[in-house]
Amino acid sequence: MMTLSTRRGLVVTVAALAAVATAQSTCDLVESRTSIESHKRFQIEYTSEQSEYWSTGCGSLKPSCILMPTTTQEVAAIVSILAANNESFAIKSGGHNPNNYFASIDGGPLISTKKLDQVILDPVTETVRVGPGNRWDDVSGALDGSGYTAVGGRIGNVGVGGYMLGGGLSFMSTEYGWAANSVLEFELVLANASVVTVTESNHPDLFLALKGGGNNFGIVTSYLLQAYPQGDVWGGNLIFDATPEVSKAMLAAVRDFTENYDDEKAGIIVTAERTLATLVDLWVIFLYYNGPEPPTGVFDKFFDISKFKINTCKTQSMHSLLSGNNWAVVKGSVYTIGTETLPLPNEANGVEVMQKIFDHWVDVSNTAQLIPGLIASIAFQPLPKRLAQVARAKGGDMIDVDDDIDRIVLELDYSFLSNLSDAKVDKTMQDTYGGFKTIIEDYQDSGLLPKDVYLPLFQNDCYYPQDYFGRLKPEKLALARRVQAEVDPDGFWKTRTGGFKIPSAY
Ligand SMILES: Cc1cc2nc3c(=O)[nH]c(=O)nc-3n(C[C@H](O)[C@H](O)[C@H](O)COP(=O)(O)OP(=O)(O)OC[C@H]3O[C@@H](n4cnc5c(N)ncnc54)[C@H](O)[C@@H]3O)c2cc1C
Repeated sequence: MMTLSTRRGLVVTVAALAAVATAQSTCDLVESRTSIESHKRFQIEYTSEQSEYWSTGCGSLKPSCILMPTTTQEVAAIVSILAANNESFAIKSGGHNPNNYFASIDGGPLISTKKLDQVILDPVTETVRVGPGNRWDDVSGALDGSGYTAVGGRIGNVGVGGYMLGGGLSFMSTEYGWAANSVLEFELVLANASVVTVTESNHPDLFLALKGGGNNFGIVTSYLLQAYPQGDVWGGNLIFDATPEVSKAMLAAVRDFTENYDDEKAGIIVTAERTLATLVDLWVIFLYYNGPEPPTGVFDKFFDISKFKINTCKTQSMHSLLSGNNWAVVKGSVYTIGTETLPLPNEANGVEVMQKIFDHWVDVSNTAQLIPGLIASIAFQPLPKRLAQVARAKGGDMIDVDDDIDRIVLELDYSFLSNLSDAKVDKTMQDTYGGFKTIIEDYQDSGLLPKDVYLPLFQNDCYYPQDYFGRLKPEKLALARRVQAEVDPDGFWKTRTGGFKIPSAY
């Protein structure tokens, strides 16, 4: 019989809990048999936690209760209760994933990791232990002034838990790899409610599977991360009106930047935004440099466009930069997210290919013009060869991107006012990334883009129907299946909670 003791002195006998769990709901059992924090509808903590989603689509789903464990043992106790019934449930960190039912649920229990919020720096080992209940501005805030940083989100409000399990693209990724490449240890609650510390040496396959494998293997209750020395950084935003000349120059600049990537300490996100009701089109660039000033030349192609109307770039702390970028998190709308991966066109073909991608996005988003409150955005996110090299040198991950080519991760967002427009936006989203795939394939056939190259989808930007696992290398998909069979033979995480799931077969 397994016995779990919680921080608050509660002793939970898992087998005893399981025996009675069949008759009552998880929420009732947790409330009657444990002292784990639980909140019901109309209570202040419940309402407040429901407002902590990026998309109001997720926040409008109503869990039967919100459980807020404070320790790994409390998470294990919840899992043991769930294992004895058939209720669907959701696990939530920062709530930034806008796909409904991934970190949100209607009618079952929601496990919020909010109170698993430790950030403990050990300067001797140069590591930091981070709970999944943190957001990246909590982590950078706790590390502020310590001289260390962790590789994490580019916008402070994003959560740690889901971001990390999707791989995590950071401003620091060209220097240090995907965020997941800097995880040294996962503390994980498995489907059988046991707790395992997962490292490269004791569980190498599970360790790798967690780096881009999503929530298919358990609930992570803490991440031990490599910490890196960090002083002041430089960064902020440049904002331009999206005139045709600026768009052309911007597309050329982001292509060139990705190919030439002069300095691994630099990071950018190049986004275009369209507010369709007012026909305001903007380019918003997020810039970052790991140092007080970028050397001359690193970002010149963007500054040379020279018609920017806002420039907020300055020397500041990492915490200030990440928190400052929170202006981009506008609450109160339903959001959708989607992605495709573009093999970088060479300089000769770059103008045509980049413009075609951009024009397709403009054309499809125009068809959604009448959807109330619609804002369309596209992000061009460099994934240079150097990132692939660093990721592999650090032990690799599920994405397993090679350095054969440079790539750009295209991220799409459509935001809108009401769920009543869900079906129209769903079609718009699928038409947009589906069209990108067709454009890419056509250019590969005609020789303007490299053919027979690996183009995985980036999980953190995937729309719910996108086939994240099917776009991985076959050996990585096989690894995910093998690990799943070992740690979750009954498909607990696969069938009971949302997220990108490992398909049994194609
Ligand atoms: C404004 C904005 C900026 C973004 N910027 C970036 C960026 O710079 N880089 C990047 O890579 N991505 C970025 N993203 C995408 C983001 O990483 C994903 O949406 C991610 O899923 C959100 O993480 P979260 O912790 O908030 O997860 P949630 O939305 O809370 O959860 C997402 C998924 O992870 C699972 N999950 C969460 N915590 C745990 C846990 N502890 N154990 C097991 N499963 C868990 C959930 O069940 C769910 O399926 C951004 C998103 C937004 C909205």
